[in-house]
Amino acid sequence: MQRKRNEQPLPRILIIGGGAGGLELATKLGRTLGKKGKAQVTLIDAHPTHIWKPLLHEVAAGTMDVNDDELDYLAQANACHFRFVLGRMSGLDRVAKQVKLAPMTNAAGEEVIPACSYPYDILVIAVGSVCNDFGVPGVAQNCIFLDTTEEAQQFHRRLLEAYMRAHAMGGAKQPGQLDVAIVGGGATGIELSAQLHQATRLLAAYGLDNVKPSDIKIHLIEAAPRLLPELPPRLSESTVKQLLALDVQLHLGERVVEARPDGVLTHTGKFIPATLKVWAAGVKAPDFLAQTDLETNRLNQVVVRQTLQTTRDDHIFAIGDCSACPWPERNTTVPPRAQSAHQQASTAYENILRLLAGKAPVDYRYRDYGSLVSLGKYSTVGNLMGNLLGSVMIEGVIARLVYLSLYKMHQYALFGPLRVGLIMIAHFFSQKLRPKIKLH
Ligand SMILES: Cc1cc2nc3c(=O)[nH]c(=O)nc-3n(C[C@H](O)[C@H](O)[C@H](O)COP(=O)(O)OP(=O)(O)OC[C@H]3O[C@@H](n4cnc5c(N)ncnc54)[C@H](O)[C@@H]3O)c2cc1C
Repeated sequence: MQRKRNEQPLPRILIIGGGAGGLELATKLGRTLGKKGKAQVTLIDAHPTHIWKPLLHEVAAGTMDVNDDELDYLAQANACHFRFVLGRMSGLDRVAKQVKLAPMTNAAGEEVIPACSYPYDILVIAVGSVCNDFGVPGVAQNCIFLDTTEEAQQFHRRLLEAYMRAHAMGGAKQPGQLDVAIVGGGATGIELSAQLHQATRLLAAYGLDNVKPSDIKIHLIEAAPRLLPELPPRLSESTVKQLLALDVQLHLGERVVEARPDGVLTHTGKFIPATLKVWAAGVKAPDFLAQTDLETNRLNQVVVRQTLQTTRDDHIFAIGDCSACPWPERNTTVPPRAQSAHQQASTAYENILRLLAGKAPVDYRYRDYGSLVSLGKYSTVGNLMGNLLGSVMIEGVIARLVYLSLYKMHQYALFGPLRVGLIMIAHFFSQKLRPKIKLH
């Protein structure tokens, strides 16, 4: 559509990072401001596709095929009236109001997209978090992180390779030959342990039976004296019972001080042999954020006010894992969770509309609905929080349904009710048609 000569240029809203928070925000802004031609909404992400990050441990274990749940940003942008640009943010020029994008290369190292800058009037930083190795020697070289789909797929490939090799060789296994060490007894480490237990049983059932499930040990290592240190102790106790029943080897109160090619060493001198090592022991925001002139904390998170606007710039918001937003009721900051990113996307949406209309922004208040930890097909444990109920521990089918509803809420925000219904039907049939585990 041709713009008239004296018409104001459209405000440019730029969102960096299309994850649990950023993609929901881009979708909402696109469906309203973008569709009505009231703003130019652009999403930039370092990857061409989106997958909801809490599913990555299932991708790693092979119990989920990414092709079933991956979303193409370009298709979503086309359907929801925003633009998508493939790019990795590497810096910020607040004076020129431009985001710097690093050059993008392909697998052969050839430059596909050169370095460039992208202008904005309102910027939302939603780049999530990455694993924090706390500078422990050998972790970067010898451990796998679960930050991206590629990393989860890499873990799955290496698990299958180790399995195929052991199956082809037959006979007795070397110590640690098929063992997996997972560092970090938070939700990610626990969920991965349970998924791997399920995966090893399935691989044996599909004919790789020279390897017995008992040939594989899954070690879960946690520096704190109990699992899920940030959640109520009764939840940890219930989780421990369930993991022990799955024969997961628990090493509590053991801080990993070195990762080696053949295992990990803890501060008490204990060496845990393992071919595959996963680091899931804490997160930080991407390093480049600390190089910008925005206020950041020791975890590189951008410090924001209650309105989700950054402390130094009203036109820059930060949401999700990469932001440090006050949680005054607990005298801390909002935890890095999918539910926080989901809630913050809604408040950022409202405050962007208010900013454009010249109105005062509203405050974001974190509503803690509780935490749930999925032990794959075996169980789900968690606590639900509510004003009426206080904190209620739940387990089993009800916990599983609440856990699944978190992902459904994300899908609902992206696709609406009709498509979510169709996706559920398609899932039901595709599960009947393909193996229960990804075998390649
Ligand atoms: C295995 C696993 C299990 C989890 N389980 C749960 C759970 O059960 N419940 C729960 O609440 N939370 C869970 N989490 C945490 C949850 O996934 C995060 O809190 C949530 O995804 C944060 O959302 P976000 O929008 O801030 O970032 P993300 O969802 O991580 O999205 C960030 C996006 O930014 C992009 N990006 C990153 N850097 C750049 C850059 N420089 N330039 C451009 N784009 C960039 C990424 O490609 C990505 O698309 C889990 C996390 C993991 C890894």
